[in-house]
Amino acid sequence: MDALTVERQTMLECINCHTRIPLDKRVAGCPTCGENILEARYDFHNIDVQRWLETIKRRKPTLWRYAEVLPIQDPKNIVSMWEGGTPLIKSEALAASLGLKNLYIKDERQGPTASFKDRQATVAISALKEMGVGEVVVPSTGNVAIAYGAYAARAGIKVWAFFPSLTPGDKMREAALYGAEVIKITGTYDQTKELAARFAKTKGIFLDRGIKSVAAIEAMKTMAYEIAEQLGDELEDGQRWIAPDWFLQGVSGGMGPIGVGKGFQEMKAFGLIDKMPKMGLIQSSGCAPMVEAFQRGQRIATPVENPQTIIATLATGNPGRAYELLYDYVKQYGGHFTSASDEEAFTATLIAARTDGISVEPATAVTFAGLIRMVRERVIQPDEVVVLNCSGHTMSVEKHILGDQWQHNVDLSQQNKTPSMPEEGLLSALEQVEAKVRRIVIIEDNHDAARLMKRILLARGSYEVHVANDGRQGIQLVQEVHPDMVVTDIMMPDVDGFKVIETLKADKSTADIPIVVVTAKELTVKERARLGGQIQMLLQKGSFIDDDFVETLVNQLE
Ligand SMILES: *Cc1c(COP(=O)(O)O)cnc(C)c1O
Ligand SMILES: [Zn+2]
Repeated sequence: MDALTVERQTMLECINCHTRIPLDKRVAGCPTCGENILEARYDFHNIDVQRWLETIKRRKPTLWRYAEVLPIQDPKNIVSMWEGGTPLIKSEALAASLGLKNLYIKDERQGPTASFKDRQATVAISALKEMGVGEVVVPSTGNVAIAYGAYAARAGIKVWAFFPSLTPGDKMREAALYGAEVIKITGTYDQTKELAARFAKTKGIFLDRGIKSVAAIEAMKTMAYEIAEQLGDELEDGQRWIAPDWFLQGVSGGMGPIGVGKGFQEMKAFGLIDKMPKMGLIQSSGCAPMVEAFQRGQRIATPVENPQTIIATLATGNPGRAYELLYDYVKQYGGHFTSASDEEAFTATLIAARTDGISVEPATAVTFAGLIRMVRERVIQPDEVVVLNCSGHTMSVEKHILGDQWQHNVDLSQQNKTPSMPEEGLLSALEQVEAKVRRIVIIEDNHDAARLMKRILLARGSYEVHVANDGRQGIQLVQEVHPDMVVTDIMMPDVDGFKVIETLKADKSTADIPIVVVTAKELTVKERARLGGQIQMLLQKGSFIDDDFVETLVNQLE
């Protein structure tokens, strides 16, 4: 990074009473009113905006090209891995299928740790380095801790990462790989944040304040600067910077859109853009406190105590002040809050992958699902310029989407050999036994698959679902709870599905319980014969998570 070219003084301003104090990264609240959110303000001495733009163009395309509006005083403290400067990709097939003329994907997957949390990490870790902090506690649903892990490793800073149990194990492992101390909390994300804060206080370790920290908001705003610069290149040959009509993001704590909103406000104040974008804010419907408050017309959100979503990244139950800031933004500049279910998100994952070739993690799929919904509901108009924050790559989480059965083998030689076993969806299996089904035991050694099935069942009706992760435990559970139905996997180590079925059928007290077999494996003729007559239904893993498929079945049943 070259030295800052513009002389400036960085101040902190209270968002409540507007008291200003010089930048001090350790200040946690307003000295006048106690408000805990302070925003950075850059007081420039004689800034020549045109000259500044010329300078920016000559710098490397990382987010540090906007260093004059970032809260690091000495460029020597910058910890960088070429983050930001992500591509703005024009959507072709997806845009066409939605009838949109200008849909752009801000591809944040292309950061060093594959999510837009790399922005937060580079600024926050640089700020820690500037403060001389050697250890930091950070609560995270996954991506923040991974990004902090990487940047902290470069800076020689120790990270204590607190995760809620919903976070996929692969993400925790990734953070551990960078040397972070991983603490898994069996509880919600909100509880995890509380525990992390208590831990930091007792141990006297610096606590990352997330959305309440200057670094996080300033980091996220660089997305806005990049978008305006890139849209200017796209739409008007770089003649000027342009704000889109819409900025869309899947929202958890709200750091992204709050930062981006601040970025556009600054650019408008500098005269770099002439309008403010509307915000499309999408939450997971199992954890949508902002959407619910907005629909009730309220400026304060009621926290969701027990988030019902497997999308850990979006599981902030209590958005606190962040919602008020976003509510105010939407009231002033326009926008919309909406939600999408986990199933809609999984469907959207496939759509994004198979139209535009973009593979995203579920939190980002929620954004695509929200886009589709907002276009259908005519909230977004065909000729509006839409930028979607493609916030994270699918990576470790793809299991939820594809199941284990990601390839289909069509073997015609086996057709009509087992007419008694329809291969249909889980839902139709349930419809067959109708209202009688209330209590279900799932026996499945793949934890993710079990969790997904449980989630779908709970979403579809008032079922009591018990899960066993191996055959022996499953048989015991069935004998204990006497369910109305058993759903079992076939391929399990030790006591497999065949053994489970045989044992249950041989026991008088369990022999009558209907059994649905869910299998990732194409069964041989012999294996099918072994199952024949003993089970209610055979079902290929993966097929039932497609929403359209489920709907088709429902329609057939009606
Ligand atoms: C953190 C994160 C979000 C939610 O971000 P907020 O702006 O804090 O609500 C969405 N998608 C991905 C991939 C994330 O890592
Ligand atoms: Zn104040």
